[in-house]
Amino acid sequence: MRLLVVEDDATLQRQLSDALTANGYAVDVASDGREALYLGQEQSYDAVILDVGLPLMDGISVLRKWRAEQRTMPVLILTARDDWHDKVAGIDAGADDYVTKPFHMQEILARIRALIRRASGGADSILRCGQLELDTRTSRASCENELISLTSHEFKILSYLMHHLDEVVSRSELTEHIYAQDFDRDSNTIEVMIGRLRKKIPDGMIQTVRGMGYRLAKADC
Ligand code: CA
Repeated sequence: MRLLVVEDDATLQRQLSDALTANGYAVDVASDGREALYLGQEQSYDAVILDVGLPLMDGISVLRKWRAEQRTMPVLILTARDDWHDKVAGIDAGADDYVTKPFHMQEILARIRALIRRASGGADSILRCGQLELDTRTSRASCENELISLTSHEFKILSYLMHHLDEVVSRSELTEHIYAQDFDRDSNTIEVMIGRLRKKIPDGMIQTVRGMGYRLAKADC
């Protein structure tokens, strides 16, 4: 899952980015409204954390523009304490949720999990596919209650596929959603990682759809 963090306070931006990265997300950052607008138009994000007070262009205007252009990614806005005007304006502009500053990182993490879950149509924080389970709260995967040891990239791929169960996901889509922007991307490595992942989860769960991509589905028993 790939996120965009838009925050002009450098310390806060780094704290958010570090915490989200540690929790298995690929994270891009922007420090002003114009950069945020551009990234949101050009890249595919699974969710955006958007500060309202930003240089060059405020967060509400950025959000309004995205929504006017039919960009539907979940957006969590960060508002100043007691500023109910920002909350109302943000929600009217198309925000899915808000968090008031100062906040606890755990709250941000929980709300982002919920937004991504809802966007993929799920209500439970544990994603399941047959015996395979992925706990979005702990970023752990297990099979028949046995923990599966995954590298961070394997986890990112599995998480994306489990959020898109039974859907065909192309290699380029996977590349877009598991790497941050500044990462040296190579779509061939996706194939390698899929191969490794296949050895760690039940046989036949990751299907190759010729010419189109991969699909995670319950293996035929
Ligand atoms: Ca700010």
